[in-house]
Amino acid sequence: MLSAALVVTLFLVPQGTAPDRSTPEKTITGFLEWKEGMPARNSKAFKHMLELEVLGAEHFAGKAREQMDAQRERNRNAVAALGTPTIETKVVKRSGDGDDSATLEVEVAIQRSADPKRASKRVLTFELKKHGDAWLIEKISRECWSCHGSGACPRCAKAKPSKRKCFACKGTGRCRVCKGKGFQVDESHLPKVRLALPSTKPEFSDDWSNAEAAAKSYADLQLRCRYEQSKVMKHVVDREVARLAYWLSPRLMKECHANVAKSVSEQETRYQQERLTVRKIELTGDKATAILDPDKGHRWPSVRHVEMKRSGDEWKVVEVRTRNRSAQGKPSGR
Ligand SMILES: [Zn+2]
Ligand SMILES: [Zn+2]
Repeated sequence: MLSAALVVTLFLVPQGTAPDRSTPEKTITGFLEWKEGMPARNSKAFKHMLELEVLGAEHFAGKAREQMDAQRERNRNAVAALGTPTIETKVVKRSGDGDDSATLEVEVAIQRSADPKRASKRVLTFELKKHGDAWLIEKISRECWSCHGSGACPRCAKAKPSKRKCFACKGTGRCRVCKGKGFQVDESHLPKVRLALPSTKPEFSDDWSNAEAAAKSYADLQLRCRYEQSKVMKHVVDREVARLAYWLSPRLMKECHANVAKSVSEQETRYQQERLTVRKIELTGDKATAILDPDKGHRWPSVRHVEMKRSGDEWKVVEVRTRNRSAQGKPSGR
């Protein structure tokens, strides 16, 4: 399933004139609107990626097909729910005000649906600097979720004084999560992508005429989904990361580019890791069970039991069960 973080990195915006960044407030509002509006702006690419998740559904029947249809329905709803959110910002504190630097604590309320109970609210601290005529964001941080900004070890703060050293902070009294700072750097604007694209165009088997071929085609289908999804992702990310430079400082932009470069350099390895290999096939008449092994580096490193059935001239996948390499007990549903 696609993570929210990944969706956030996808957006399509027309290249136009630079947005207004003449005040710190305008930069912050512009940045937030751009960032939070990404899923809706990219609904087309997002829809395409979700469709790729159910690629080859015609080769599935029975329970496996039902699960794919259910997935398709969930994907449709996810696309339908994408709307441009309403964003409200309120500056709660201003400090370090100078001609070329400012720190603003901003309460951000984001309303994604018509249900007011589902609005999310948080306080973000923006540090900005003036670069030429434009205010750019140098750093975004938010209150530490563990100590709520105090910087003190929440365990020590609650517990009665005792001679034993607190295991959470090793006796320092400082919050372990933020190391006593009370805040954490917010990185939700950084692109987080996982790409699986080999340097040469791969060939995918699409032969379902016998059990062996069908097992191999099933394994390739999984890989093909990842490959095709990665292509969509890469295309969009390549074109659009540059847009961030309107609001982020050159230093933050370097981090964004480094993140993308890292996933690009890892994509060949990742593609190999997404591979499934057919370990064995047990054939009984018109039915067969194929056991597929994942690569150790696979995102979901579980062994798959693929139940297949002959249906006319072709073999169809009727059920897929997964079993964690380390887990005990019965295999669970896909
Ligand atoms: Zn903390
Ligand atoms: Zn402690």
